[in-house]
Amino acid sequence: MSYADAAGTIVAQILALPEFARVQALFPDAGLDEAMLLDIIGAAGDLAEGVIAPFNTQADQVGCRLEQGRVRLAPGHHDAWQAFVAGGWTTIESAPQWGGAGLPMLVHSACEELLNRASPAFGMLPTPMRCATKVIERYADPALCAQWAPRLVDGSWAATICISEPDAGSDVPRLRTAAVPHADGTWRVTGEKIWISFGDHDLTPRIAHMVLARTPEGEHGPAGLSLFLVPSDIAGQRNAVVVRRIEEKLGLHGSPTCALGFEAATGYLIGTPGRGLAQLFTMIIGMRLSVGSQGAGLAGAAASLAWRYAAERRQGGRADAPPVTIDQHGDVQRMLLGLAARAEVTRGLVLTAAALSDLQAREEDEAARTEAGLVLAWLLPITKNFAAEAASLCANDAIQVLGGAGYTREWPAERYLRDARVLAIYEGTSGMQALDLALRRVLGDEGRAYRAFLAKARGDADRLGNATLHALLDMLEQAASGLDKPTAAVVAYPFLQLASLATTGWIAARLAALSGSPLHDHLAALGCHWLLLAQAQALAEAALTSHGQALVAAFADVDRGYLG
Ligand SMILES: Cc1cc2nc3c(=O)[nH]c(=O)nc-3n(C[C@H](O)[C@H](O)[C@H](O)COP(=O)(O)OP(=O)(O)OC[C@H]3O[C@@H](n4cnc5c(N)ncnc54)[C@H](O)[C@@H]3O)c2cc1C
Repeated sequence: MSYADAAGTIVAQILALPEFARVQALFPDAGLDEAMLLDIIGAAGDLAEGVIAPFNTQADQVGCRLEQGRVRLAPGHHDAWQAFVAGGWTTIESAPQWGGAGLPMLVHSACEELLNRASPAFGMLPTPMRCATKVIERYADPALCAQWAPRLVDGSWAATICISEPDAGSDVPRLRTAAVPHADGTWRVTGEKIWISFGDHDLTPRIAHMVLARTPEGEHGPAGLSLFLVPSDIAGQRNAVVVRRIEEKLGLHGSPTCALGFEAATGYLIGTPGRGLAQLFTMIIGMRLSVGSQGAGLAGAAASLAWRYAAERRQGGRADAPPVTIDQHGDVQRMLLGLAARAEVTRGLVLTAAALSDLQAREEDEAARTEAGLVLAWLLPITKNFAAEAASLCANDAIQVLGGAGYTREWPAERYLRDARVLAIYEGTSGMQALDLALRRVLGDEGRAYRAFLAKARGDADRLGNATLHALLDMLEQAASGLDKPTAAVVAYPFLQLASLATTGWIAARLAALSGSPLHDHLAALGCHWLLLAQAQALAEAALTSHGQALVAAFADVDRGYLG
């Protein structure tokens, strides 16, 4: 499938979304109709295919390097970046006040999928820029905001998110980077941050490092953390931010992952002291949705490659006849169907979450805004994790379809797998997403997010008369009612899997009801197939979710000493 075909399928999914009519109504100036969607999303596909994908092949092979303390990106990155910025792609959903196009997140996510299909490494730069703008416009001093927001939106300056430290990965509250006030009203930030994506580069003259740090009077834990904007350069001079190294890593070679030393660097406090982590969640939520787009992009790329290859590769068949194409073998058909169905529901899940974020931001009625926000709160950990795992699973299956060729660098399937693997790690590991879902969305806040999703999905199951969706929701309800605080941690991951199957079952049921054109029939077939797969797998995950005590007991009986 070409990028143009993928753009057409994305537009069909958008137009079929039950939420689309509200998004259209709430963005009256955007003029969203089929022709306009095809224009914008088609253009994103053209850029992705014509400019970003060719650059990415080279970037994957060459990677980035550190030269005299500065990061040098792969050849071709500058030209690809120039084309991206000149096309206005940094501005899509940003506020018009800062020069943004003010389009819905739905349109942004659609374009983002295609850009990530071409290069998830390339997408690692614009995402923190876009999401940092939201924190800055919401919490920063107006003068700081007026300085940074327009430049981040038009792509002339960049941003990072600096949370991770050697002793603080998932355990963010333990971070030690310190910030002390300076007489001139700024702060001095000192500490070591690791794994910072695009922590340095030569694409823009300035970078806003969004740094989480502890202030002197700060208590231990999250309440002691504040947020600072630490510019890489101030008035043309380098700030005291040093690149210690670039990590050598499995994939995303076009994205420099840096260890940064902050050596009493000048920083500006953003918002309220002690509220840094809560404020940074404005950025983190956007970035998690973008991981969804990365996953959808890679899953789609892998499915498309597998289908194309299988239609050409000839093996097997009757000995007295020429070999047949491998897509005529039942086992290959099983893989191809699974690949296409998983990729399509991933796309549907990401687009639905994006539409709900538009409704949460724009609905006129407070009750409607709250309802959209609650369903989105349910969807976010699921979208982040399901899309991340879909990318790896689809890449893995694409390699299987390609056989030995899939394992070689002649084909991009192995690169998809290398690039995909980290999606389930950064922006909160699968384990942390699972805990978030079980402890906060079901057991916490009186389960409001879980109940809001359930009500919406049950409503659709009734409207569509879909018994399989009802069965998936029954399994989810039973598992949720069995969750308790003592064993939630050990069964949180199978519960996340079950919840993801029920939620993607909901997406699939909506697809399965489409008809009226060959493209709709195609989407309906994939929706039906996903429902079948989801129901079968959900039985296993439901069983695991109910065996918390057994898991705890088995772990206690296994002796590490015998593992060698
Ligand atoms: C390519 C790449 C880019 C990155 N970009 C950035 C960036 O730009 N900015 C940034 O700040 N960070 C970035 N990161 C860091 C990333 O966010 C962390 O790697 C991630 O949060 C996990 O932290 P960790 O690696 O320390 O793993 P750990 O926290 O050590 O976790 C290891 C394992 O233990 C589990 N675990 C840990 N604690 C718990 C718990 N309480 N309960 C249950 N399970 C637990 C985890 O789920 C995981 O399976 C990046 C990482 C990579 C690899």
